[in-house]
Amino acid sequence: MNVLQAEELIRELIERVAGEIGVIIYELHPKKEFTDEQIAMELGVEINEVRKALFALYELGLAEYRRKRDDETGWIEYYWKINYEKQNEVLKRELLKTKKKLEEKLQDETMTVYYICVNGCMKVTYEQAMEFDFTCPKCGAPLEYFDSSIAIEKVREEIRKIDEILANLK
Ligand SMILES: [Zn+2]
Repeated sequence: MNVLQAEELIRELIERVAGEIGVIIYELHPKKEFTDEQIAMELGVEINEVRKALFALYELGLAEYRRKRDDETGWIEYYWKINYEKQNEVLKRELLKTKKKLEEKLQDETMTVYYICVNGCMKVTYEQAMEFDFTCPKCGAPLEYFDSSIAIEKVREEIRKIDEILANLK
């Protein structure tokens, strides 16, 4: 896998889990430990937003913190560090999760016969279609056999792509 692809995937993942602020913090590449306050000041955003993003990164395994009591104020401060070296490990874990979901979907699509309303109201199993007498209960149009071969091929293609990325992920 080329670096660009990895960067893009990790960016997507962070955006989904930790939001835009998570992405910005991650891409700051801070050289030293930092507090949420420092980042909030630097970015000009609410400290709570920064904390939320940092804890989301922590949940992903991409950030860690240590707590330290400030000698002057007596408050507990969080000192954060981004785990850039964990990036591939985290990516791999998430890709395997996605792959598992896709495989379940593939199995479901392969094993189950579906019928759909010609107007697109619903997708039902063969058993349900029989119950509805092959007529859409919503609009009254016929329920037709759903050819899932295109959907199946799409899922297979997605799985192939993930395998390719995983193979190149060291
Ligand atoms: Zn319908």
